[in-house]
Amino acid sequence: MKQYETVIGLEVHVELATKTKIFCGCSTAFGGAPNTHTCPVCTGMPGSLPVLNKQVLEYAMAVGLATNCKINQYCKFDRKNYFYPDNPQNYQISQLYLPICHDGGIEIETETGKKVIGIHEIHMEEDAGKLIHDEWEDCSLVDYNRSGVPLIEIVSEPDMRSAQEVIAYLDKLRLIIQYLGASDCKLQEGSMRADVNLSVREMGAEAFGTRTEMKNLNSFRAISRAIENERERQIDLLEAGKQVVQETRRWDDAKEYSYAMRSKEDAQDYRYFPDPDLVPVVISDEWIERIRAAQPELRTEKLIRYREEFDIPDYDAGILTSSKKMADMFETAAAICGKPKKVSNWLMGETLRLLKENNQEPEDMRFSPEHLAELIELVDSGTINGGVAKEVFAEIFAHDIDPARYVEEKGLKTVSDTGALREAIAEVIAANPQSVADYRGGKEKAIGFLVGQTMKAMRGKADPGMVNRLLKEMLAE
Ligand SMILES: [Zn+2]
Repeated sequence: MKQYETVIGLEVHVELATKTKIFCGCSTAFGGAPNTHTCPVCTGMPGSLPVLNKQVLEYAMAVGLATNCKINQYCKFDRKNYFYPDNPQNYQISQLYLPICHDGGIEIETETGKKVIGIHEIHMEEDAGKLIHDEWEDCSLVDYNRSGVPLIEIVSEPDMRSAQEVIAYLDKLRLIIQYLGASDCKLQEGSMRADVNLSVREMGAEAFGTRTEMKNLNSFRAISRAIENERERQIDLLEAGKQVVQETRRWDDAKEYSYAMRSKEDAQDYRYFPDPDLVPVVISDEWIERIRAAQPELRTEKLIRYREEFDIPDYDAGILTSSKKMADMFETAAAICGKPKKVSNWLMGETLRLLKENNQEPEDMRFSPEHLAELIELVDSGTINGGVAKEVFAEIFAHDIDPARYVEEKGLKTVSDTGALREAIAEVIAANPQSVADYRGGKEKAIGFLVGQTMKAMRGKADPGMVNRLLKEMLAE
């Protein structure tokens, strides 16, 4: 069989985190009763006029600058004409001729090394409404709450050659945009969506093969699988002497199979033309500089600073910065208690464990850094021991409780009254003659069991170190 190379380009749609829509003042809040976040503009009423939301433009510029794009200082909106019931105007306001950003790129790193993936352009556009098909028998319903929610579309160059590179690119893009605060970029919830353009060509060939576009990819796993599947499908066609048809395909992740949706339209099919209702946007040098100066610290810079500032392993720094939410949690809690290493341990250990157990992402963390810092203080001051701390942390994680108050109310303070401890130990010694004999006979390890029994008798509220000391003392008597 011939050797083939996969060529992949991505179109990534990102929902921007503005409070209001791109061309009207309606709320972008998710959910809400159908058609309640609407007005004449976003339901396409004749005579209504769009006005650009400045924040959309500034987010788009921020993403462009962070991905090394050039900013089009004279940029315009165009109408993309098509009929579909979720699109009340019968056109979508988008950008074709003068998109806000162009000619950028970001560096990715995979097993095969570092590589720059080019960004052809970033344009601003509005989202469509949502059709609901199966609630009533003979009709479909439409909800325009999402109509007019701002999107940016980031179009890469066809620079990726494997699923691994695609994932690395998406992950990098996601982190940049999250750090900028421009979107939460959740694939599962659709605030980040990736369409994959894929073609294959014989190794060494110059010309690109015919590409297909795959839609409906809502997890990194689905993207990987869809890429592998489509690569094989195209190679099989070519090997059988057939041709790849340029078309849009929909991936069904449950069936691990894609099917043709429609043959791919070209830009001219949409009869784009400049939107006459919107004035061109002129962007001054000063405005660009203002956006650049306001850029927050991005992940790459943060990683370097963590290595210099905090005494934590590189691996931990990598995990902590892999989500903006996690990095913010780490920095705030560490600043409060002044113990970065301990904060990192709680995040890398119990927090990640509980997130995994609850099938959650770091973005879903709901507890406050103050409470984590407070918990660390309670352990360090000897008020509670490590075992109790884990129990308290589970409550912080789930309900963001105030740990000091919780410990007080539940009576979880470590018993440091040696009288009570000695009493408990005496009972344990009396009840476990075999272990006592083992220990006295030289089996040092037997003391672990006796410590455990004492902790159990104290219902976990003792300092294991102190129990150990007292036990040894009393066993030596
Ligand atoms: Zn509206």
